[in-house]
Amino acid sequence: MLKRGSTIGILGGGQLGRMMATSAAQLGYRVIGYAPDGDNVMGDVAEDFVTAAWDDEAALAAFAARCDVVTWEFENVPVATARGIAGPAIFPDPKALETAQDRLDEKRFIEELGGRPAAYAKVDSSYDLIAAADRLGAPGILKTRRDGYDGKGQWRIANGREAEALNVPETPCIYEAFVEFEAEFSVILVRSQDGETRFWDSTRNEHRGGILAASHFPAGEPIAAQIAEARELARKVADALNYVGVLTLEFFATHEGPIFNEMAPRVHNSGHWTIEGAATSQFENHIRAVAGLPLGDTRTTAAQVEMRNILGNDIENAHAALGDARLHLHDYGKAEASEGRKMGHATLITHDAGL
Ligand code: AMP
Repeated sequence: MLKRGSTIGILGGGQLGRMMATSAAQLGYRVIGYAPDGDNVMGDVAEDFVTAAWDDEAALAAFAARCDVVTWEFENVPVATARGIAGPAIFPDPKALETAQDRLDEKRFIEELGGRPAAYAKVDSSYDLIAAADRLGAPGILKTRRDGYDGKGQWRIANGREAEALNVPETPCIYEAFVEFEAEFSVILVRSQDGETRFWDSTRNEHRGGILAASHFPAGEPIAAQIAEARELARKVADALNYVGVLTLEFFATHEGPIFNEMAPRVHNSGHWTIEGAATSQFENHIRAVAGLPLGDTRTTAAQVEMRNILGNDIENAHAALGDARLHLHDYGKAEASEGRKMGHATLITHDAGL
């Protein structure tokens, strides 16, 4: 159990780290962040923030020497950086990063555990893409195996002609058949150092242009009937990775049951509602898990929850919405409000009485 006043190191500097650091402070810990130069908004709420390249071994060693335990908030932290942390323990185990960073490895891993991803094929050339679209059918989506997020590194392919015309990027890709889903949802769990696992309720997740727009609780049908099977897979993933902390798996709810989309070895945008809508938030429980503290209750405390992301310039008018007393605003404090960028979120909490 990490003593009060101990230091938690967080790799990455975005809003997820900012919300984690806030929970760490609440529990009496200090936080130091580490990330390359950028809009590292975690720095506003952390005791210190180290700005250095992921491969700067001297900076990383100096950072690790100041930490009692290390975690991350960003799934594209290079595996070598996470493995290079010597001295303090790092949670989750970096093999979770390794598995989730490559869409092909991730899907194979899921299949080995009995999960069902969308039909997929490895694509390294335009010949592979044409063959994949022919074999698996179109429409489909070409995705880079690495470094994609929020719909980036993805190309929709409507038919065989588009597969022939597309300039396949010079980076390993996979082709996925388009899933005719009824709804999307995620399973978010927290697993402690002694293997205790707790789940939050699942929300219905609404995406626009590949970016999460909103999460809704209750998720309703058909999601409710598919949660048990999805949780079973998520538990197997967590156990196989001896996972410590918060883990997210995203699913498509289909007529054939839950189809695995992707996993994130970290707290997740679709869990932001847990700050006000659950007894313990995903951020607090992640910190509890990495600090070796008992986990908090994950049950939902509201009758209805709606979380909406605030993108780009919409953040400028966000305070106006607080006229609705049920609303909670989180402004990430980012300087650059470029189009489509996640600048904050708002959670609307409705209790039984309507307030
Ligand atoms: P991803 O970054 O892979 O999670 O993709 C972002 C969003 O694009 C998903 O949440 C879906 O809304 C959509 N999408 C991705 N892959 C597929 C697929 N194989 N079939 C249907 N929709 C997809």
